[in-house]
Amino acid sequence: MVTNTDYDKYLASKAAALIRENFSDRGVINFLVVKWGTKKSKRVLGHIKAIKTSEFGSIIEINPLLKNLNVPEYVLDYVLMHELTHYFQGFGSNHERKHKHPHRGGIVEKELERHGWKEIIEKSEKWIKENWKETVITNRN
Ligand SMILES: [Zn+2]
Repeated sequence: MVTNTDYDKYLASKAAALIRENFSDRGVINFLVVKWGTKKSKRVLGHIKAIKTSEFGSIIEINPLLKNLNVPEYVLDYVLMHELTHYFQGFGSNHERKHKHPHRGGIVEKELERHGWKEIIEKSEKWIKENWKETVITNRN
């Protein structure tokens, strides 16, 4: 049986691997938590926010519907990479911010393409377009 702890470990190690493989030149300079969110959102697959309590940190939350077995692994990778890109571009983190807006000018896509993710972006967008709505409806409750 796959437990919630297994899912949490899976997500954390996946995020660590993606950082290692794609952003090793940058480094994680502030506290970063990557976890499953609790909200089965229809529209938000992942998001990042800053935690400004005692020390500056960031938290990435991934839509729990992405645990669903009919969601291809590359879609989860894609969502994680999107949020990690925000992190390294200084949105929701204290990395240096070179852009004013997190999405304007396709800066996330450009960064992902620089890492060789063009094909995965396209595949993922296609899968999301064709299957996400159904995934939400059948796994709502
Ligand atoms: Zn975004």
